Amino acid sequence: MTFDRIELIQSDITILTVDAIVNAANTSLLGGGGVDGAIHRAAGPELLEYCRKLDGCPTGEAKLTPGFNLPAKFIIHTVGPVWRGGQFDEDKLLASCYNRSLEIAASNEIQSVAFPAISTGVYGFPPARACKIAVRTIKNFLTANLLPKKVVLVCFDKKTCDLYRAIL
Ligand code: ADP
Repeated sequence: MTFDRIELIQSDITILTVDAIVNAANTSLLGGGGVDGAIHRAAGPELLEYCRKLDGCPTGEAKLTPGFNLPAKFIIHTVGPVWRGGQFDEDKLLASCYNRSLEIAASNEIQSVAFPAISTGVYGFPPARACKIAVRTIKNFLTANLLPKKVVLVCFDKKTCDLYRAIL
């Protein structure tokens, strides 16, 4: 059952002991606010050094780095769309973030991966709409793939947790 492979928790994503955590990064991959800032602080300055060589990342795509000082072995950096009203492929680009991150996880034999609610902070994506896209995309991927074995949906706030719980 694919449902057993999705877990929901309210936590700071940087403290999780999973194979990989996903970062809601920006196209520069050079750090920012929100979850991105928290991940860079927790991983340490070596992460920024490593990211400088990656030449950024387009919206809807993802790139892998080591986790450095994090408990997680890897970080999958993905760039969510900025919400601009919904007519600029935002839904498709957000789904692509989840798909590309999961593809990278599977091809690197990553067993467990934790996602923040991509684009729902500073990028302004309507949270309920984003959570539905996240769950649908993850379920479809898990149905078709054996890896990752487990996906953790990480909510920073109770409101996001309640949204996910209603959808799951
Ligand atoms: P974006 O720019 O993609 O909107 P944000 O970092 O602003 O990214 O927010 C994305 C989501 O991550 C929001 O739901 C925010 O509450 C959450 N978030 C912020 N910090 C953390 C953290 N340390 N761990 C998990 N989630 C976090």
